Formats: sequence, C-alpha cells, structure tokens
Amino acid sequence: MFATMGALGLAPAAEASPRVAFTPPRPSDFTLRGRSAARVLVLGGGVAGLAAAYELGKAGYRVTVLEAQDRVGGRNLTLRGGDRLTEIDGATQRAGFSRGQYMNAGPARIAQWMTTMDYCRELGVPLEVFTNSNAEAYIYNENAGMKAPVKWRTAKADVYGYVSELLAKATDQGALDKQLTSTDKERLLAFLTDFGAIGRKTDDFAYKGGGRRGYTVDPGAGHVAGTPLGDVPALADVFASGVGRAFSFEFGYSQAMLMFQPVGGMDAIPRALAKAVGHHRIETGAAVTQITNLARGVRVEYRSGGRTRVAEADYCIATLPPHILAKIPHNLGASVQSALATPVPVSTGKIGLEYRNRWWETGHNIYGGITNTDLDVSTIWYPSSGYGGDRGLVVGYYNFGGNADAYAALSHSARLDRALAAGAKIHGPEYRRNIAASASIAWRRQRHIEGGWVSWPSRGAEYALLNRPAGNVYYAGDWLSYEIAWQHGSFESARKVVTELHQRALKG
Ligand SMILES: Cc1cc2nc3c(=O)[nH]c(=O)nc-3n(C[C@H](O)[C@H](O)[C@H](O)COP(=O)(O)OP(=O)(O)OC[C@H]3O[C@@H](n4cnc5c(N)ncnc54)[C@H](O)[C@@H]3O)c2cc1C
Repeated sequence: MFATMGALGLAPAAEASPRVAFTPPRPSDFTLRGRSAARVLVLGGGVAGLAAAYELGKAGYRVTVLEAQDRVGGRNLTLRGGDRLTEIDGATQRAGFSRGQYMNAGPARIAQWMTTMDYCRELGVPLEVFTNSNAEAYIYNENAGMKAPVKWRTAKADVYGYVSELLAKATDQGALDKQLTSTDKERLLAFLTDFGAIGRKTDDFAYKGGGRRGYTVDPGAGHVAGTPLGDVPALADVFASGVGRAFSFEFGYSQAMLMFQPVGGMDAIPRALAKAVGHHRIETGAAVTQITNLARGVRVEYRSGGRTRVAEADYCIATLPPHILAKIPHNLGASVQSALATPVPVSTGKIGLEYRNRWWETGHNIYGGITNTDLDVSTIWYPSSGYGGDRGLVVGYYNFGGNADAYAALSHSARLDRALAAGAKIHGPEYRRNIAASASIAWRRQRHIEGGWVSWPSRGAEYALLNRPAGNVYYAGDWLSYEIAWQHGSFESARKVVTELHQRALKG
C-alpha cells in the first residue's frame, strides 16, 4: 500500500535505483520448463568472462572458462613482490615490492553507482575508500608556464574566486538584465559571495584570497591565528595556467567521490569470482586458436600444455578484447571480422614506486589522492591505504595515448628515470630518494591484451552486430558497453549476454 501511495505521490519515496535490472538465471527456470541447463564455453577469464560463468553457474549451466594466461583477472591485475611481468617482445620485470605493498596495474577505483560494488558485496570483497580528489594534492602545468606546483585547494580558491568576481561584476553592472530578474540577481550575488569568497559590492566584489588557499603558518593555539598563503596571482595568470581544467574531472558520473577500492588489491574481485565459479571449471594457460560455429553448438580449439585441444559446447561467450579476437580464425563471417577490427586500442601505462618512507604525508600533508600535470606523467597517485605507515607505493605515472606510448618504448629503467625526473619537478629531490622497488606496465605490450581499452569511432552497425550473437557465439566485455575502461561495463555486458543466452536456452 505504501508503494502504491508512493506511486500516486501520496507518500515520500526515495528515488528508485537507476541500475539496469538483472535477474540471475535460477535452476528452477529449467525445472518449470522441463529443460536442462546447456553447456557453455567462456573464452577469457577476465571480469566479464568470470562474471558470465558465475551467473550461468547459479542456474546449473555446465560452464568451462578458457584463459590464455596463467592467472585469471585479465586487465584486473595487481602486482606484488615476486610477480613477473613479461611484455610482447620478451622484456621481463620481476616486481620487488615488499610484503603488503602492491600496485593496481589496471583498475584502481570504483564509483558507488557501479555494478562492481554489488559484486563486491555479494562475493564478500571488503572495500575501503579510494581518494580520487584531494585538496592537498598538486596541479602543475609546466607547459602552460607555471613556475611551481599549486595545491588543488589553492587553485580552486583562485579560479572560483575570480570567476565569481567577474560574474558578480557583470550581474551588478546589468550585463545579465535580460536573463535575470532583480530577485534572481540578489540571489546570484549572495551565492557568488559564498562560492568565490569575494568582497561585497562596496569592495567591488574583489577576490583577494584568504584561508581557503591554504596557510604558510597553520592556525594554532593562543594568538596563532594562522598566516594565509599570500601572493594571490593575477586573474590573467590563473586562467593562463589552465589549473581550472582539472576541476571538471571530479564532477564526472564515474569519477566523483566517494570512490572505493578492495582492501589489499583490486584482484580480490577476480579471485573471489574464480572461487565462486569453481577452480575446476577454469582452465588457465589455455589459449584459444580457433572458433567454429556449428549448426548445433560451437567448437573451440585451444593450445594448452604444448598441445592443441578441442572443446565443444552448446554456446560460447567470447570475452577477449576485440583486436585480439580479430586475430583468431573463425567462421563467423566477414562482417563480424570487420566489426572486430573497428574499435581502436588505447595506450595506457603505470609505474609503481615503493618508498621506504611516506614523504608525501610527512612533508606535504597528502593522504591519498591524485596530482595532475601537463608533464608526460599526466597523473601521480598517492596511496589510499596504509596511512602513517613506514612505507608506501606511489603511482609515478598513469598516462594515456602518446605519453603512454613514449614510456612504453623505453626499458623499465629508462621509464623509471624519466618518471623520477618529472615527479621531482613537482615534489623536489625527495622524490628520487628512498625508493625500495619499482615496476611499470605498458598495456599495449601485454600479451593477450595489447591495449588498456578500446575506443569506437562510433557505436554504429559494427557495435550493434557484436552486441548480437553470431550463431551460437556471443561476445561480452567492457568494449560492448557504454562504460568502456570500467569493470562496470564488463559486468553489465556479461549480465546482458547471460540474460539473452538464458532466454534462448529456455526456449530450446
Ligand atoms: C590502466 C587501466 C586502468 C583502469 N582503471 C579502471 C578503474 O579504475 N576502475 C574500473 O572499474 N575499471 C578500470 N579499468 C578497466 C577494467 O580493467 C576493464 O574494464 C576490465 O577489467 C575488463 O575486463 P574484461 O573481462 O572485459 O576484459 P579483459 O580483462 O581484457 O579479459 C579478457 C581476457 O581474455 C584473455 N585472452 C586473450 N586472448 C585469449 C585467448 N586466445 N584465449 C583465451 N583467453 C584469452 C585475456 O588474457 C584476458 O584475461 C582500467 C583498465 C586499465 C588497463
């Protein structure tokens, strides 16, 4: 009755969850129709493949996951001490991180609205806050002419302050009289006074800085009121520095705080999925080499233990990245082949720097968060765990496109040198000291993956084609979703395919 009253607008109702509805297949779906669950081969043991196997397994489907690498997870990779990382040309690193230190080489953050959160709850993966924006982190745009890094809080105070001053002046001088009534103007001016911490009309709405920018001496006891950071830059210099461009990032639907990470490493998600699927259903070191759609079912050839093997099933779900799938012989038709070759792989890379101290906390008051720069490292990430400990791991770059390609072309030690040189411009000489270990990843150079994610020139006929099965072969992955480069996209795509396959299997 309460729900009906809510629908009629007679009872207060919280907004319904905007998540796409999903009903996992159940064993009873089959018993009611007198059918039995089909046999399904899942190609690829990343998040999409494991999630598909997990959901189908709930209804008793006989699922086998074939994964080319010797571990599950795909792009969900957490590097720890002792892990080996081999690139396609054979260059191999051995991560030397100490016990308890790790780098999330792929995914590192989860937004609260994402389906990934539901899987963490369902699978018992403990979460902690991931700090995606931090007032104490820096912005440094050297190529835009900045001479020194500024704290996010300082940059925000100046940009919001000057924008507010300009808008207040324009409003007061009548420039917006066509758009605003006098009451609107009063309300807008009141808002801008707070938002930008600007002066009143009698001060010509001037922005003059203040405590929001930060302090050279923090407020203390007795008569120590604090000394606000001085030298407010001129309006023209603030806009020339481009610092304001960083702010829209945190407004994004996928990037807004709070965000989360699994405690101890992102690979807790594929590990929990693999356990729930059942390790006996997952074959690692099994590289698919041919896919043949049959009149009834599907036949897959793969290499395992130095031999070619064959598996047959009623259906198959291929979750390999499209540019990898495009290299595997199949009989799915020329239009499928050209569709698979359409999305363009995107380069991205990271370097993990383990320090023997936590200088960013003790010297800079930075407890998590991200520094942004127009240097080729693009972003520097401080750890969102282990606060106050005696060591920690900083991600010295997480960059994309041409910047990622430039680092990918180097040996690991040359990547390290280049990253340290850039980071030292922001953090000073301390950045080069007390490094205990490092490891870097170039995703275009990872076997069986060869890209961070893909970009579709447009979601046209090719995207539509691959969102449908070709005979008994289905496709899934973040690349078939509207959240590419997010595990959410992989989970949603897996759920979509599971739903479609299940409906078909029930019809027989
Ligand atoms: C640097 C980086 C940062 C990211 N950041 C985030 C983030 O913060 N949050 C987030 O949620 N997501 C993030 N993502 C995206 C996330 O990692 C992906 O969306 C997700 O992990 C993809 O899962 P998938 O199963 O669709 O594909 P994949 O993980 O690519 O799985 C495909 C699998 O197929 C296997 N395979 C390939 N060839 C064969 C073959 N011949 N035979 C058998 N198996 C084969 C591969 O080894 C792989 O395991 C990030 C990704 C990267 C690279």
